[in-house]
This record gives sequence, structure tokens and C-alpha cells, in this order.
Amino acid sequence: MSNNKEPDHPIPDTIVDEGTKTTYVKGRYFGKGGFAKCYEIKKITNGKIYAGKIVSKQLLVKSNHREKMSQEISIHKTLNHKHVVGFHGFFEDKHFVYIVLELCRRRSMMELYKRRQILTEPETRYYMKQILDGVSYLHNNGIIHRDLKLGNLFLNENVEVKIGDFGLATKIEFEGQRKMTVCGTPNYIAPEIITKTGHSFEVDVWSIGCIMYTLLVGKPPFETESLRETYARIKRGDYKIPSTLDDKATKMIHSMLHSDPKRRPTVRALMNMDFMTKGYLPPQLPVSCLSMAPRFD
Ligand code: ADP
Repeated sequence: MSNNKEPDHPIPDTIVDEGTKTTYVKGRYFGKGGFAKCYEIKKITNGKIYAGKIVSKQLLVKSNHREKMSQEISIHKTLNHKHVVGFHGFFEDKHFVYIVLELCRRRSMMELYKRRQILTEPETRYYMKQILDGVSYLHNNGIIHRDLKLGNLFLNENVEVKIGDFGLATKIEFEGQRKMTVCGTPNYIAPEIITKTGHSFEVDVWSIGCIMYTLLVGKPPFETESLRETYARIKRGDYKIPSTLDDKATKMIHSMLHSDPKRRPTVRALMNMDFMTKGYLPPQLPVSCLSMAPRFD
């Protein structure tokens, strides 16, 4: 948001990290999120291409944006896993903060969902496997993502999942710690976050349940006209799975959408559920799957 007194500074075409003396050339524009703009950026010394997440400092002076961004960086920079967006560094100049990330050329599962609406079971198993792998890594390192949703599951050139956007993430500092609040509004929000009764890793399992439901059913489980009514349905555990859905998938979704977080399985347990282990798991998916249902034969 700009106002009349302070014009937006243009993002420079050549971006220099003065600390490491690395120069990047700004390329194609990808899009913008809450407060970041994202560009393809090329490191001139080796020609490697990254995603540059660029945030104007004008936007960071206000409210809790600065704190949220430093939280995002402090968590994301410690992570290294094949299903987590790679973090390659951050730096700033007078007007902007820059985050250098692994490039995810095939956008996110949100765009996939918009084009396909419903995925096949083998595709769902393929994406779930990678999401569970990535989230298992996060949980093993004490990190709760807290905003797992289709738009934060990025896809690279080979249609591999990369979990990104750690803006609402938090670290569990000691065994059994319960967090009381989230600074922001998660999309697939768990009931215990709404009721502020204390939450932990189980909120990510809830979100994964909502993701799996959405991929197989073609709409989110608690969707209504208003956020108020959606929250009321979430608190009541009021959702239906179509009876036509596969039994193993139905069982797995129900387990993740338990109102009581203690009754939800861990990510490790989910990996061993029948839906995951007893059906065809494609080793990779062709790019054509982003717009057309594949035939597995
Ligand atoms: P914000 O944190 O401000 O919400 P986002 O993380 O949503 O920003 O990113 C803004 C835009 O940049 C989105 O349109 C997203 O598709 C794109 N984007 C973010 N990270 C990457 C990446 N690693 N590779 C490619 N595009 C990305």
C-alpha cells in the first residue's frame, strides 16, 4: 500500500547483496502475496535462477509486519529438505528486503486445483506422500507451519511439492509446549486455534486433512458463504464426506479432522495408513497433469 506522500521506490533491475558481493539480475515477474513481490532473479556469477521475494521497507514500518518477516526468515533459513522451498539467503538495501528462494516454476497446488478441481486417487497419494515427507521433517525439527494450504504448496519444474511461506510458522521450544495464539489468519484453521485453547503440531495434521479432502472432493470441507459460519462449522466438526469416496481415503480424512487434537494421528502414523500404502503411487507425474487428468495404465 502506498500513500500520496511517499511514492513507491522502483525495484532495481540489478540487485546486489553487499554482504557477499553477489549480484542478481531481476527477470520475469511472478506475482505478489500479502506484502511481497516475487521475481525470477539470476545470479550473474553462475547463471543460476532463483525466486526473489522482495518486500518494500515502507510496508515493514507498520504494525507487526517486520516482526512477522524476521520470524519467517529465522525459521526458513534453518530448513533444508527436498520438499521444503530451499532458502538461499536474505539481504537488504535502503528500500527493500530480499529473500532468495528455490525457484518453483510450476506455481502452487492452488493453480493446479483451480484447473483440475478433482484429482485422481493416485495423484492425491503422490502429493500427500510429498506433503507428509516435508511436514514430517518440519515436525521432527520442532517447527509447526500453521498455514498449510494449496497456495503454500509450491511445485517445481518436475511437479515436486515444495512447502513454502513460513510467515505463520512457529518453533516448539520444549516438549509438550502449547502455543496460545497465531499472529495472522490461517486458511485451513483448526478448531483449537479458533477457541484459543492451546495448539501444537496437530494443527498441521488438521490442515493436511482439509487439503486431502479438497483434492478428492473438489471443494474445502467447511466452506460456507462467510468466515463466521465456516468457523462455527469447524468448531462443531460439521462436515460430510461423499459416500462415493474410497473407504481408505475416507478413513484417513476422518482421522485428520477429529475435533480433539489428541485423537489425530501424527504425520508418521499417516504415512502408514492404508490409503498411502495400499494403492498405486506414481513415482513422478508429467507436467500435463497440471491441466488434464492422467491415465495410469
Ligand atoms: P506473501 O508472503 O507476501 O504472501 P507469497 O509467498 O504468497 O508472498 O509470494 C507471492 C507470489 O510469489 C505468489 O504469487 C507466489 O506464487 C510467488 N512465489 C512465492 N515463492 C515462490 C517460489 N519459491 N518460486 C516461484 N514463485 C514463488
